[in-house]
Amino acid sequence: AEQLKIDTEKLKVIGEIAASVAHEVRNPMTSISGFVQMMNNDPANPYRAYTEIMYTEINRIDLIVSEFLVLSKPNLKKFTDFYIEKSLLDVVSIFETEFSNRSIFCDVQIPKNNAIIRGNEDGMKQVFINLFKNSCEALVKNGIITIVVKFQDERVTIFIRDNGPGMNTETIDNLFEPFYTTKAEGTGLGMLITKKIIVDQGGTITVTSKINHGTETTIILPLV
Ligand code: ADP
Ligand code: MG
Repeated sequence: AEQLKIDTEKLKVIGEIAASVAHEVRNPMTSISGFVQMMNNDPANPYRAYTEIMYTEINRIDLIVSEFLVLSKPNLKKFTDFYIEKSLLDVVSIFETEFSNRSIFCDVQIPKNNAIIRGNEDGMKQVFINLFKNSCEALVKNGIITIVVKFQDERVTIFIRDNGPGMNTETIDNLFEPFYTTKAEGTGLGMLITKKIIVDQGGTITVTSKINHGTETTIILPLV
Protein backbone atom coordinates (compact mmCIF):
# COMPACT_ATOMS: atom_id res chain seq x y z
CA ALA A 1 0.00 0.00 0.00
CA GLU A 2 2.87 2.36 0.82
CA GLN A 3 4.46 1.72 -2.57
CA LEU A 4 1.21 2.47 -4.37
CA LYS A 5 0.77 5.72 -2.42
CA ILE A 6 4.25 6.96 -3.37
CA ASP A 7 3.58 6.01 -6.99
CA THR A 8 0.33 7.95 -7.06
CA GLU A 9 1.99 11.03 -5.56
CA LYS A 10 4.83 10.80 -8.05
CA LEU A 11 2.40 10.46 -10.95
CA LYS A 12 0.49 13.51 -9.72
CA VAL A 13 3.64 15.64 -9.67
CA ILE A 14 4.71 14.38 -13.09
CA GLY A 15 1.25 15.23 -14.41
CA GLU A 16 1.42 18.78 -13.06
CA ILE A 17 4.88 19.44 -14.49
CA ALA A 18 3.83 17.85 -17.78
CA ALA A 19 0.83 20.17 -18.06
CA SER A 20 2.82 23.36 -17.65
CA VAL A 21 5.74 22.29 -19.84
CA ALA A 22 3.44 21.03 -22.60
CA HIS A 23 1.46 24.25 -22.75
CA GLU A 24 4.54 26.48 -22.65
CA VAL A 25 6.27 24.51 -25.39
CA ARG A 26 3.33 24.06 -27.74
CA ASN A 27 2.86 27.68 -28.87
CA PRO A 28 6.44 28.54 -29.85
CA MET A 29 6.71 25.11 -31.50
CA THR A 30 3.71 25.80 -33.69
CA SER A 31 5.27 28.95 -35.09
CA ILE A 32 8.70 27.35 -35.58
CA SER A 33 7.06 24.42 -37.35
CA GLY A 34 5.18 26.78 -39.69
CA PHE A 35 8.34 28.65 -40.71
CA VAL A 36 10.38 25.49 -41.17
CA GLN A 37 7.68 24.05 -43.40
CA MET A 38 7.74 27.27 -45.41
CA MET A 39 11.52 26.96 -45.87
CA ASN A 40 11.12 23.31 -46.87
CA ASN A 41 8.66 24.24 -49.56
CA ASP A 42 10.98 26.83 -51.10
CA PRO A 43 12.85 25.15 -53.99
CA ALA A 44 15.44 27.95 -53.94
CA ASN A 45 16.33 27.26 -50.31
CA PRO A 46 19.94 25.96 -50.30
CA TYR A 47 19.59 24.62 -46.75
CA ARG A 48 16.75 22.20 -47.40
CA ALA A 49 18.79 19.21 -46.20
CA TYR A 50 18.94 20.95 -42.81
CA THR A 51 15.42 22.28 -42.67
CA GLU A 52 14.12 18.78 -43.41
CA ILE A 53 16.00 17.45 -40.40
CA MET A 54 14.64 20.36 -38.38
CA TYR A 55 11.15 19.39 -39.44
CA THR A 56 11.66 15.74 -38.39
CA GLU A 57 13.01 16.84 -35.03
CA ILE A 58 10.14 19.27 -34.52
CA ASN A 59 7.72 16.40 -35.11
CA ARG A 60 9.53 14.41 -32.48
CA ILE A 61 9.20 17.23 -29.94
CA ASP A 62 5.55 17.43 -30.87
CA LEU A 63 5.10 13.71 -30.17
CA ILE A 64 6.70 14.08 -26.74
CA VAL A 65 4.55 17.12 -25.97
CA SER A 66 1.41 15.22 -27.02
CA GLU A 67 2.36 12.38 -24.69
CA PHE A 68 2.98 14.92 -21.94
CA LEU A 69 -0.50 16.28 -22.49
CA VAL A 70 -1.95 12.80 -22.02
CA LEU A 71 -0.02 12.57 -18.75
CA SER A 72 -1.33 15.92 -17.58
CA LYS A 73 -5.01 15.34 -18.39
CA PRO A 74 -7.06 15.94 -15.30
CA ASN A 75 -8.91 12.73 -14.50
CA LEU A 76 -12.02 11.93 -12.47
CA LYS A 77 -14.10 14.68 -14.05
CA LYS A 78 -14.31 12.90 -17.37
CA PHE A 79 -15.29 9.52 -15.94
CA THR A 80 -18.21 7.74 -17.54
CA ASP A 81 -19.63 4.21 -17.48
CA PHE A 82 -18.63 2.14 -20.49
CA TYR A 83 -18.28 -1.41 -21.79
CA ILE A 84 -14.68 -2.45 -21.31
CA GLU A 85 -14.93 -5.32 -23.83
CA LYS A 86 -16.06 -2.91 -26.54
CA SER A 87 -13.17 -0.49 -25.93
CA LEU A 88 -10.73 -3.36 -26.15
CA LEU A 89 -12.27 -4.79 -29.33
CA ASP A 90 -12.37 -1.31 -30.91
CA VAL A 91 -8.61 -1.00 -30.45
CA VAL A 92 -8.03 -4.57 -31.70
CA SER A 93 -9.81 -3.63 -34.93
CA ILE A 94 -7.77 -0.42 -35.24
CA PHE A 95 -4.66 -2.63 -35.13
CA GLU A 96 -5.89 -5.24 -37.61
CA THR A 97 -3.91 -3.82 -40.55
CA GLU A 98 -0.82 -3.34 -38.40
CA PHE A 99 -1.05 -6.94 -37.16
CA SER A 100 -1.43 -8.34 -40.66
CA ASN A 101 1.39 -6.16 -42.06
CA ARG A 102 3.67 -7.62 -39.41
CA SER A 103 2.25 -11.15 -39.72
CA ILE A 104 1.16 -11.08 -36.11
CA PHE A 105 -1.58 -13.47 -35.07
CA CYS A 106 -3.92 -11.94 -32.52
CA ASP A 107 -5.74 -14.44 -30.32
CA VAL A 108 -8.69 -12.81 -28.56
CA GLN A 109 -10.42 -14.63 -25.72
CA ILE A 110 -13.14 -12.42 -24.33
CA PRO A 111 -16.24 -14.00 -22.79
CA LYS A 112 -19.51 -12.17 -23.44
CA ASN A 113 -20.26 -10.35 -20.24
CA ASN A 114 -21.31 -6.78 -21.04
CA ALA A 115 -19.27 -5.66 -18.07
CA ILE A 116 -19.27 -1.97 -17.32
CA ILE A 117 -16.46 -0.04 -15.74
CA ARG A 118 -16.38 3.58 -14.62
CA GLY A 119 -13.48 5.57 -15.91
CA ASN A 120 -11.91 7.37 -18.79
CA GLU A 121 -12.88 5.52 -21.96
CA ASP A 122 -10.41 7.35 -24.24
CA GLY A 123 -7.77 6.72 -21.60
CA MET A 124 -8.47 2.98 -21.61
CA LYS A 125 -8.21 2.92 -25.40
CA GLN A 126 -4.88 4.73 -25.07
CA VAL A 127 -3.76 1.99 -22.67
CA PHE A 128 -4.55 -0.77 -25.18
CA ILE A 129 -2.93 1.22 -28.00
CA ASN A 130 0.27 1.67 -25.96
CA LEU A 131 0.43 -2.03 -25.07
CA PHE A 132 -0.31 -3.33 -28.58
CA LYS A 133 2.20 -0.86 -29.98
CA ASN A 134 4.91 -2.11 -27.64
CA SER A 135 4.14 -5.72 -28.52
CA CYS A 136 4.16 -4.96 -32.27
CA GLU A 137 7.48 -3.16 -31.93
CA ALA A 138 8.95 -6.06 -29.96
CA LEU A 139 7.73 -8.92 -32.16
CA VAL A 140 10.01 -9.92 -35.00
CA LYS A 141 8.59 -13.07 -36.56
CA ASN A 142 5.86 -15.59 -35.83
CA GLY A 143 4.42 -13.06 -33.46
CA ILE A 144 1.40 -13.91 -31.37
CA ILE A 145 -0.49 -11.48 -29.18
CA THR A 146 -2.94 -13.12 -26.81
CA ILE A 147 -5.67 -11.15 -25.13
CA VAL A 148 -7.57 -12.83 -22.33
CA VAL A 149 -10.32 -11.20 -20.30
CA LYS A 150 -11.70 -12.70 -17.10
CA PHE A 151 -14.50 -11.52 -14.91
CA GLN A 152 -14.60 -12.48 -11.29
CA ASP A 153 -16.38 -10.93 -8.33
CA GLU A 154 -16.43 -7.19 -8.82
CA ARG A 155 -13.45 -6.95 -11.09
CA VAL A 156 -12.20 -7.54 -14.56
CA THR A 157 -8.73 -8.86 -15.30
CA ILE A 158 -7.20 -8.23 -18.70
CA PHE A 159 -4.11 -10.14 -19.78
CA ILE A 160 -2.16 -8.95 -22.81
CA ARG A 161 0.63 -11.30 -23.73
CA ASP A 162 3.16 -11.45 -26.52
CA ASN A 163 5.71 -14.09 -27.46
CA GLY A 164 8.36 -11.47 -28.22
CA PRO A 165 11.96 -11.19 -27.02
CA GLY A 166 10.96 -10.13 -23.49
CA MET A 167 12.85 -7.68 -21.30
CA ASN A 168 16.03 -7.88 -19.30
CA THR A 169 16.00 -6.93 -15.61
CA GLU A 170 17.25 -3.40 -16.28
CA THR A 171 14.32 -2.73 -18.60
CA ILE A 172 11.80 -4.32 -16.22
CA ASP A 173 13.13 -2.16 -13.36
CA ASN A 174 12.82 1.03 -15.43
CA LEU A 175 9.69 0.21 -17.38
CA PHE A 176 7.52 2.85 -15.72
CA GLU A 177 10.23 5.51 -15.41
CA PRO A 178 9.70 8.62 -17.54
CA PHE A 179 11.86 8.67 -20.71
CA TYR A 180 13.21 5.17 -20.21
CA THR A 181 13.40 3.63 -23.67
CA THR A 182 15.54 1.08 -25.47
CA LYS A 183 14.29 2.25 -28.88
CA ALA A 184 15.99 4.74 -31.19
CA GLU A 185 12.64 6.41 -31.85
CA GLY A 186 10.99 5.76 -28.48
CA THR A 187 9.79 8.42 -26.05
CA GLY A 188 9.83 6.21 -22.97
CA LEU A 189 6.50 7.65 -21.88
CA GLY A 190 4.10 4.92 -23.06
CA MET A 191 4.17 2.68 -20.01
CA LEU A 192 4.15 5.62 -17.58
CA ILE A 193 1.03 7.00 -19.28
CA THR A 194 -0.51 3.53 -19.25
CA LYS A 195 0.11 3.18 -15.53
CA LYS A 196 -1.26 6.63 -14.72
CA ILE A 197 -4.51 5.95 -16.58
CA ILE A 198 -5.02 2.59 -14.83
CA VAL A 199 -4.16 3.90 -11.36
CA ASP A 200 -6.46 6.91 -11.86
CA GLN A 201 -9.34 4.45 -12.38
CA GLY A 202 -8.59 2.52 -9.21
CA GLY A 203 -6.88 -0.30 -11.06
CA THR A 204 -3.54 -2.03 -10.99
CA ILE A 205 -1.06 -3.00 -13.67
CA THR A 206 1.72 -5.55 -13.43
CA VAL A 207 4.16 -6.66 -16.06
CA THR A 208 6.08 -9.92 -16.12
CA SER A 209 8.61 -10.72 -18.78
CA LYS A 210 11.13 -13.37 -19.60
CA ILE A 211 13.96 -13.08 -22.09
CA ASN A 212 13.19 -15.05 -25.28
CA HIS A 213 9.74 -15.99 -24.00
CA GLY A 214 7.71 -12.83 -24.05
CA THR A 215 5.90 -10.29 -21.97
CA GLU A 216 2.61 -10.34 -20.13
CA THR A 217 0.76 -7.33 -18.83
CA THR A 218 -2.03 -7.84 -16.31
CA ILE A 219 -4.56 -5.11 -15.70
CA ILE A 220 -7.15 -5.37 -12.95
CA LEU A 221 -10.03 -2.89 -12.84
CA PRO A 222 -13.04 -2.63 -10.57
CA LEU A 223 -16.44 -3.19 -12.23
CA VAL A 224 -19.39 -0.90 -11.64
P1 ADP B 1 8.82 3.33 -25.69
O1 ADP B 1 7.91 2.34 -26.35
O2 ADP B 1 8.66 4.71 -26.25
O3 ADP B 1 10.26 2.88 -25.66
P2 ADP B 1 7.46 2.53 -23.27
O4 ADP B 1 7.28 3.20 -21.96
O5 ADP B 1 6.22 2.15 -24.01
O6 ADP B 1 8.39 3.48 -24.15
O7 ADP B 1 8.34 1.21 -23.07
C1 ADP B 1 9.60 1.31 -22.42
C2 ADP B 1 10.52 0.17 -22.81
O8 ADP B 1 10.01 -1.06 -22.30
C3 ADP B 1 10.65 -0.05 -24.30
O9 ADP B 1 11.65 0.78 -24.86
C4 ADP B 1 11.04 -1.54 -24.37
O10 ADP B 1 12.41 -1.71 -24.15
C5 ADP B 1 10.33 -2.13 -23.17
N1 ADP B 1 9.08 -2.83 -23.54
C6 ADP B 1 7.81 -2.39 -23.36
N2 ADP B 1 6.91 -3.28 -23.78
C7 ADP B 1 7.61 -4.34 -24.26
C8 ADP B 1 7.25 -5.64 -24.83
N3 ADP B 1 5.97 -5.99 -25.01
N4 ADP B 1 8.26 -6.48 -25.16
C9 ADP B 1 9.56 -6.14 -24.97
N5 ADP B 1 9.96 -4.94 -24.45
C10 ADP B 1 9.01 -4.06 -24.08
MG1 MG C 1 5.82 2.33 -26.12
